[in-house]
Amino acid sequence: MTTVQNLIGGERVGDPELARHNPANPGEIVAVTPASDASAVHAAVSAAEQAQGAWAALPAPARGAILLDAADLLRSRHSQVAEDLSREEGKTPAEATGEVRRAIDVLRFFGSLAWQASGEVLPSAMPGTTIFTRREPVGVAALITPWNFPIAIPAWKMAPALVSGNAVVIKPAELTPLSVAHLSNALVEAGLPAGVLNVVHGTGSVAGDALARDPRVAALSFTGSTRVGLGLHTILSERRARVQLEMGGKNAYLILDDADPLAAAKVVAASAFSLTGQACTATSRVYCTPGIMEAFLAALAKEAEAFTMGPVVSEQQLAVDVSAIDVARAEGATVVTGGDVPSGQFLRPTVLTGLAHTSPVVRDEIFGPVVAVLGVDSYEEGLARVNDSRYGLTAGICTRDLTAAHHFAAHAQVGVVKVNRPTTGLDLNVPFGGVKDSSSNTFREQGTAALDFYTWSKTVYLGHE
Ligand code: NAD
Repeated sequence: MTTVQNLIGGERVGDPELARHNPANPGEIVAVTPASDASAVHAAVSAAEQAQGAWAALPAPARGAILLDAADLLRSRHSQVAEDLSREEGKTPAEATGEVRRAIDVLRFFGSLAWQASGEVLPSAMPGTTIFTRREPVGVAALITPWNFPIAIPAWKMAPALVSGNAVVIKPAELTPLSVAHLSNALVEAGLPAGVLNVVHGTGSVAGDALARDPRVAALSFTGSTRVGLGLHTILSERRARVQLEMGGKNAYLILDDADPLAAAKVVAASAFSLTGQACTATSRVYCTPGIMEAFLAALAKEAEAFTMGPVVSEQQLAVDVSAIDVARAEGATVVTGGDVPSGQFLRPTVLTGLAHTSPVVRDEIFGPVVAVLGVDSYEEGLARVNDSRYGLTAGICTRDLTAAHHFAAHAQVGVVKVNRPTTGLDLNVPFGGVKDSSSNTFREQGTAALDFYTWSKTVYLGHE
């Protein structure tokens, strides 16, 4: 068991109060953390506010160098980090290793960006005048993160915030404190000045709420549930602070008759069962045109039965998954495969069919390895079903028909479209975010687009005759 303290102004403080258990072995306590109250959160924001000016005054490449050194440190200890991530979140060793590598690459990407030009030089109608723009840091950026990518999401929010000259206060998910501890340790050991990065552990309703309400927080980036995100949106908008929300999803796949049923089943299985279905980009509803339904369903059942998955993250999440399967059964659905919990928190990959389009199992986010397969009569009906959702994060189509693929790319109401590729998994250099209730639908994360949220543009006129 590891004690993980808060990091405030360079000091490690706070008594151990909250325990996190290993989801694969619930008797094992993995870590204990403070349950921070509002005063700890305010101390962290004060430390950030004090440190930010000197940090922003450093040349950008000096800030980037710290991110690059932190990447090297994480690389040197990546097997330990992956093991801890796996113990607290439940990911398989391969998934945990992949996620740690992603965090390392994110630090490298944004560390290197520090050498790129920022701002523009523009012509003026006035003689002897040059106009240029500067990207200014917002000041203190608050980050609130979920458990399902416990090191990658903190990394892809922290890295653009820090390299742009902001100070950061992060409130990580209660279930996964160790991964953020590894990330923040690497940044501190790489030379990040005290107070530039502060970590406060605790519950969302106390520590997270206090962070969002602190008027010195200029921007809040949140990833988590739609319910919590919409509440935060109200708090931040009332004081006209910047807010970026990445929230829930009910991602859909459309399989057309011309697709290869085996290839489509592999794509959908990867989309639905990777990371135990606990990815915001996971597919949880599939629409098939009539000619491929039978062959696809049989192939998907085989893929599901052969899929290696870690445990569900918590007893509460397992209860949500099982209750969705119970609702499906009560509504007369067929459980094609899975639907049972052979041991502990290990739910089998579950494929359902025979549900009505109006079923809550088809409409509401479950966030587990449960996928519903429904029939549609045509591409047009399939597209309409895909778009008939309050969410809009990702959607996919399996087809060899370029016309259908392009039409889908243009008309799917989502932030990310995948053609013949799993809805899960994005490269780190592409803009990421959704529409509707999946996102604040303003600023994108990842890639160079991420810098927009953590900076604002100042226009400077320079007369020089
Ligand atoms: P959650 O909303 O319960 O918690 C997310 C974070 O918010 C945690 O750190 C939590 O402590 C904090 N929080 C909770 N209540 C709060 C409050 N009142 N004020 C301030 N902070 C509060 O979500 P979760 O269960 O950790 O994660 C699962 C959810 O996250 C799913 O809905 C999933 O779709 C979503 N998610 C979305 C994306 C995306 O990019 N769109 C990525 C990953 C997860």
